Amino acid sequence: MRGKKLTILLVEDDEADVTRLQRMLNKGLSDLFHLHHLERLADGIIFLASHPTDLVLLDLRLPDSHGLETLTSLQTAFPNLPIIVLTGANDDTLGARAVENGAQDYLVKDNVDAERLVQAIRYAVGRQQILNRLAEAMKEVSDGNTLLKQVLSFISDGVVIVDGAGIIRFANTAAAALFDIDSENLVDSPFGFPITVEERAEVRMDHGEQPIFLEMRSVKFQWGGSGATLVFLRDVTEQKQLQDNLVYLAQRDPLTGLANRASLMDYLKKAIANVSQLKNGLVAVFFLHIDRLGRINDTLGHAMGDLLLKEIAKRLTIFTRGDDNAARVSGDEFVVILSNLTPLEGVSSVAQKMIDRLSEPYFLQGNEWEITLSIGISIYPNDVRTPETLLEYAEMALHRGRKSGKNTYHYYSPTLQAKAKAHLEVENSLRAAFHQQNLFLVYQPIVSLSTRQIVAMEVLLRWKHAEMGVLSPSQFIPVAEETGMIIKIGTWTLLQACAQNRAWQDMGLSPITMAVNLSAIQLKEPDFISVVTRTLNHTGLAPEYLELEMTESMMQDTECALRVLRSLHEIGVLSSIDDFGTGYSSLSHLRQFPFDTLKIDISFIRNMMRGEDDRNLVETIITMAHNFRLRTIAEGVETAEQLEILQSLGCDEVQGFFLSKPLSADAATLRLSEQTHFF
Ligand code: C2E
Ligand code: CA
Ligand code: CA
Repeated sequence: MRGKKLTILLVEDDEADVTRLQRMLNKGLSDLFHLHHLERLADGIIFLASHPTDLVLLDLRLPDSHGLETLTSLQTAFPNLPIIVLTGANDDTLGARAVENGAQDYLVKDNVDAERLVQAIRYAVGRQQILNRLAEAMKEVSDGNTLLKQVLSFISDGVVIVDGAGIIRFANTAAAALFDIDSENLVDSPFGFPITVEERAEVRMDHGEQPIFLEMRSVKFQWGGSGATLVFLRDVTEQKQLQDNLVYLAQRDPLTGLANRASLMDYLKKAIANVSQLKNGLVAVFFLHIDRLGRINDTLGHAMGDLLLKEIAKRLTIFTRGDDNAARVSGDEFVVILSNLTPLEGVSSVAQKMIDRLSEPYFLQGNEWEITLSIGISIYPNDVRTPETLLEYAEMALHRGRKSGKNTYHYYSPTLQAKAKAHLEVENSLRAAFHQQNLFLVYQPIVSLSTRQIVAMEVLLRWKHAEMGVLSPSQFIPVAEETGMIIKIGTWTLLQACAQNRAWQDMGLSPITMAVNLSAIQLKEPDFISVVTRTLNHTGLAPEYLELEMTESMMQDTECALRVLRSLHEIGVLSSIDDFGTGYSSLSHLRQFPFDTLKIDISFIRNMMRGEDDRNLVETIITMAHNFRLRTIAEGVETAEQLEILQSLGCDEVQGFFLSKPLSADAATLRLSEQTHFF
């Protein structure tokens, strides 16, 4: 820039700005430039057409042109001319956009000082000179300058020239190798990657077995009257893998591959953020301590201790899915975050399952080992809302609980702890009751309103509890469902019920239907249908004498419900919709599912006595059921009055204390053999 004076054109209509800029230039570049000043874009273009100019300082807000258009008009007319854009203080983004569109730089008029102005001019002019030289060199390359071509072929980076239409016009050997074709074939084919305005970008190429990551640097220049880009490409796949690996290692426990404490906090924050948007969502933090791991290390050596830890980690990950996470936070401590559990009871049963699973024997290199552990539990939002404190509370619960024994879990909250304890007691005694045959069945008659005789019996489960007497299903079925015990209990009930019905038939009593209640859990068991067929085969009961009762809420998983109901229908087993009217979308269920019977919930029968409207409601249900070819049974009939009304409304069958309470097997046998005519 020495020697030759620079010719600068300032296009600016604000007089005060012009004076200021002029003063700055005089200070910074002293007499090294000629400054021409014009106020309108049109005048500027006329001037540039006849005067060789090194640089334009361009205000984007002129009397005859506004905004980016001012820039593009000038660029179109003079593609090789470096332009520095001038903007007002509030137009910061406009300046940045001007640079994206090819301006060399932008200056905010009110903030600029002499130093910055001169620096910008020097850089812009210098850069333009380089680009001009580059353009010349590139033209020589494409015109066949073999020396330059040879030089480029030695460069280990890929070098390509992409023209304004995105077509590759030149490629060196390294570039061809990256694209995995020879350079002749690469030329004239489309470049394929978006050329960003950024000077450095990373792109991903997927033509091989594994993706290749390229770092791309690009320089735009003028070439044969239009824009072109010189692109340098470097394979950074290995570097990137190394980086990814480092990031991974920084977040992981190297031995088990689980999250480490640092990344655990991130997961916990994320889980809380997600759950806080849900209505009943909760995050449960399980803090696990493995007892006397040191002893295993001491007796078997660290290598064996490591194997054990890995195996423990593997078993823990069974419990995580989706947003859940497991982490190893110290030598013998693990943390599991679960956010998919909805009722609080679910938390207890997961904790118990973790203990069960982790305390199963480990087979390590020919040895069998067992461990014991303790778990502390805290819950968002019940206990606390911040991730740090949540983790802290879980750890506190762990230490408090460890005193009370091995293989136990403890809640931070005392009320939850009390609930869990009660729950656990029910669970343990239910398990024992099942094995000690303290569960038994009672049978409640269902009576036909036309024949006034028993046409069916509903089987109801009872638990003969040593201290509490006879318990009803509502006191223990929920626990049985949460622990999965309901599967065994349900299968047993079905078998007993079918055997009893077959026994009655073998005694020569008139055949009746045996109605058995199902749980949603049973319905979801994949082999449920085969359990039913096996039970029928085993007892020799004909399918039409078995009816399975399901509630509307069990129809929520429509696909599963339909599959089961259709299979039952095929086998010839009857099905009924229980507690009808207490669930949602009752009507659509009736249309969709092939039920045989509808049981009107007890609440309707009770309300019936209130007046006309409620009576009409029951009548509507009965009429509707008949339209769908369903038998109707009224549940919970307690008075003669109710019975009369139901008769007048056309109900088919009734069940309730007015007719009979649930009976023991012996009492039921007696009642059946009496062939009683009710009412
Ligand atoms: P559910 O299927 O609606 O059974 C009818 C319930 O109403 C029975 O209660 C029965 O004793 C009671 N009940 C019968 N007539 C009257 C009456 O006139 N007035 C009143 N107030 N109640 C009457 P239970 O035996 O306590 O059973 C409660 C629920 O437990 C049953 O409701 C059923 O959903 C479930 N359950 C019973 N046994 C089993 C079973 O073996 N497996 C499954 N999964 N659930 C069962
Ligand atoms: Ca029922
Ligand atoms: Ca019912």
